[in-house]
Amino acid sequence: MDDTFTNLYQFSPLKILNHPDRIGDIVNKKDARPVTLEIDLSNACNMDCIWCTYKGKLKGEILIRSLVKKAIIEGRKLGIKSVVFNGGGEPLTSPHLLYAVKLASIEGLKTALITNGSLLDKNKIKDLLLYTEFIRISLDAASEKTFDLIRRPRGGRDGFQCVLENIKKFTEIRRKINSKTEIGIGYLVSHLNIQEIEKAASLARSLGADYIQFRPVCDHEPDFDDTFLKKLSHYMEGAKKYETKKFKVIFLLHRFLQKNEAEKNYSKCLANYLTAVLCADGKVYLCCQHKLNSKFEIGDLRIEHLKSILFGRERKDLIGKIDPENCPICRYDKYNEILNYLNDKKRRHTDFL
Ligand code: SF4
Ligand code: SF4
Repeated sequence: MDDTFTNLYQFSPLKILNHPDRIGDIVNKKDARPVTLEIDLSNACNMDCIWCTYKGKLKGEILIRSLVKKAIIEGRKLGIKSVVFNGGGEPLTSPHLLYAVKLASIEGLKTALITNGSLLDKNKIKDLLLYTEFIRISLDAASEKTFDLIRRPRGGRDGFQCVLENIKKFTEIRRKINSKTEIGIGYLVSHLNIQEIEKAASLARSLGADYIQFRPVCDHEPDFDDTFLKKLSHYMEGAKKYETKKFKVIFLLHRFLQKNEAEKNYSKCLANYLTAVLCADGKVYLCCQHKLNSKFEIGDLRIEHLKSILFGRERKDLIGKIDPENCPICRYDKYNEILNYLNDKKRRHTDFL
């Protein structure tokens, strides 16, 4: 299976190399400013996905508007470059999403939305297309039956057809208003939906999306065995046939293969200096994998400024205590491998390439 990072486009772990100033700060033990601020505007959700990482933690809280504003303004002053609105929770259950996206954009930050794609109408879609760099809609199925099995829309509403119609509206309105927002489909792969990979690629292309991204479900499935990986390779070949110049079929293969080797190839988590995660409860957590876990809370935006949270003692101490071997497989693993190499005083012959 080909696993070339440069073929991963916007999902390449080499993206970190675009930020040499922040990398330098981490390696030189200076206060490194995050590149991205993740904001969970809400921890309410109209779905009940079978593998939701936040199961039992979604208490229906909505981040109040004044804190949304505080995070964006203070984040911009600190040098944060982008804001991603996602969950724990569905961002569109918050009445402040459009306000937040617009404010961040006016402040000069790049914005993105990750959504389950159900709670939308034409006006919201149009506004989102005016202010975002990209929107990713999680689909995880290519049939109503599999969607209902996995995503379990509450009360049977806001289901598969509704999400498909909204993706179509996104791409049609984008064309009409000449928006440059990238529209992608997310597909978490497990034993439950692997057989629909090819159909999902075909569906995503027919809806006018720019890409479909396949990645493994974490924390739900046992390790992917050889039989699973063989099936994946087979379906991947089928799905890739739908690629065109305008439509990409992207498999995060390094993440699938990693499932078989839980151990980490690095000793320190340095990558979490590059992001900050504000949750709907007003608290800031170390990284997205540990959202809503009080052991990984680094501050409370209701009573502190973002600067003191990000550059304070509590965060540094917590980062120093982390043993990555105790963490789940995480999307910063490759970033951490790069940063740990650069942080290693024993590295040699660096000027010989
Ligand atoms: S849509 Fe997201 S937040 Fe909602 S239940 Fe599914 S995984 Fe959890
Ligand atoms: S290694 Fe652990 S602490 Fe670091 S980003 Fe990954 S899950 Fe978070």
